[in-house]
Amino acid sequence: MRTLITGGAGFVGSHLCDRFLKEGHEVIALDNFITGNRDNIAHLLDNPKFRVIVHDISNPIEIPDLLDNILHFASPASPVDYLDHPIPTMKVGALGSHNSLGLAKRHKARYLFASTSEIYGDPHVHPQTESYWGNVNTIGPRGVYDEAKRFGEAMTMAYHREHKVDTHIIRIFNTYGERMQLNDGRVVPNFMYQALRGEPMTLYGDGSQTRSFCHVSDLVEGIYRLLFKDYHEPVNLGNPNEVTIKQFAEEIRSLAGSKSEIVYKPLPQDDPKQRKPDITRAKTILGWEPVIGREEGLKRTMAYFQERMKRTGKL
Ligand code: NAD
Ligand code: UDP
Repeated sequence: MRTLITGGAGFVGSHLCDRFLKEGHEVIALDNFITGNRDNIAHLLDNPKFRVIVHDISNPIEIPDLLDNILHFASPASPVDYLDHPIPTMKVGALGSHNSLGLAKRHKARYLFASTSEIYGDPHVHPQTESYWGNVNTIGPRGVYDEAKRFGEAMTMAYHREHKVDTHIIRIFNTYGERMQLNDGRVVPNFMYQALRGEPMTLYGDGSQTRSFCHVSDLVEGIYRLLFKDYHEPVNLGNPNEVTIKQFAEEIRSLAGSKSEIVYKPLPQDDPKQRKPDITRAKTILGWEPVIGREEGLKRTMAYFQERMKRTGKL
């Protein structure tokens, strides 16, 4: 099988490249490196079954080799990144989804769209089930990401209904792990960088907002299982173990053996107050649930950041 992964040089995308290669697929990583990093795929460059196409998927592309699977993961994903690149974010969610769906139609390939828990916005239903339609501020700063992903879901369903493409939609909840960018502004790299260096840890708001953190290896397993199922409605993938961001800061500080102080900074606009996936659907359809607990996942991630920071003189 030949599998195309847009955003293949990103954090999640590069782990998907590893997994599909391990399963014996030929893998093409398509990326324009707007937030991705060549280091993430450096270990794959000598693999004859792996290749990279440098391209912005918001522009159409023709790929002559027959594709069996297309996973559309290209998009800035960190709030800092998508606020830095609002228009490319809207374009890749809209035009990039259209172009990658067009490829799937032409190649008769299975398709999987990486949607997000952000389509639930600042949710009024807790935990979030797939049947909840969400509470998004369309014109707020986060709207560029949320609405692009909502459009991407709608487009994916339209291609399924109209063109009978074998589509799949996952709604990914906060996922962390090795190969996140140290400076992408998300809470895990920020807290780890600060704690390891003994610098103040920046807690936004009063820290009572919640998130539920999933290790990337669990996410990848769920994606692999869904791609081959005859199921086309959205599926939440995430770890339902919810934590306040204040407690999370304390956990990371203690894992790092750090004496960093916690400093309070303003809460970004429209920052969701609570987020936790209801994963009943994933359990039922995929027989999937996360197996890496937060402590284990954070230890692995911290070891990665420590090594990287040492290598680049930051520690
Ligand atoms: P990331 O920034 O590490 O990876 C995104 C990749 O997409 C990067 O390599 C980037 O260069 C590439 N890219 C962006 N725009 C592109 C374009 N127009 N053409 C080609 N390549 C492009 O982020 P990530 O955390 O790995 O996220 C991957 C996907 O998963 C994204 O679609 C994101 O929305 C989704 N997601 C991630 C999370 C999470 O917690 N990590 C949560 C919800 C959804
Ligand atoms: N956050 C924080 N300090 C930071 C970075 C993030 O307190 O240095 C908070 C942020 O306000 C949010 C949560 O951590 O409530 C998760 O933020 P992230 O950017 O990782 O992802 P989000 O879930 O908001 O998309």
